[in-house]
Amino acid sequence: MKAAQQDQQRLLDLQELDSSLDRLAHRRRTLPEIAELAALQEKAAELRDRLVTAETDVSDLDREQAKAEQDVDQVRVRADRDSKRLDSGMVTSAKDLASLQSELASLQRRQSDLEEVVLEVMERREEAGGRVAELRAEQAGLDAGLQEAKSRKAKAEQEIDGQTELTRSARAGVAADIPADLLALYEKLREQFGGVGAAPLTRGQCQGCRLALNTSDLNRIRAAAPDDVVRCEECRRILVRTPESGL
Ligand SMILES: [Zn+2]
Repeated sequence: MKAAQQDQQRLLDLQELDSSLDRLAHRRRTLPEIAELAALQEKAAELRDRLVTAETDVSDLDREQAKAEQDVDQVRVRADRDSKRLDSGMVTSAKDLASLQSELASLQRRQSDLEEVVLEVMERREEAGGRVAELRAEQAGLDAGLQEAKSRKAKAEQEIDGQTELTRSARAGVAADIPADLLALYEKLREQFGGVGAAPLTRGQCQGCRLALNTSDLNRIRAAAPDDVVRCEECRRILVRTPESGL
């Protein structure tokens, strides 16, 4: 393939811009905020689960407390009724009195036991409520962290997108200067060889594969016409001669 020396030089400018675009795309894909957000979101999901469990505990304990209070009330009503009967003086037989007094004593013991249960449930309810409040505070902190990381990510992306746009338009300008056949070969090689299709020959070394050319290859390049498009024997990339080539 033949191409004017100047067009071959232009190809190096194009390569530089394409490499910049590749670096920008890589940076956008690997922003540290991406991993940071994933970790925060995982933590948030875990926290949501713990919060659901804690909230369920609270509503279970609310029900348990209501039930325990109802039990106390039932026993209290019966005890009240018994003590009113005792106080009324209407029960006169010694046997009935003894039986009523014994029932009342047993109801009072039962009431005191049930009141213990209420207190114990209330204590657990308070603890569970405290846990919910703690988790909600943790969640608010985590949400703030998520928002902050999201806005940092958006800002970094915006900056990269701005640079990408500028670089793309510069690339379009350079690409327009390069003959179609040379451009097509470059694009094909770029795709084949990890984004680098053309490289300068610098002090006898291909800057595409970093290998030093042997004497016979260097002689072949020395003998080539300036508008010959030469290729690296090692990596097959387009090798562009420059004043620093050492030929
Ligand atoms: Zn090479």
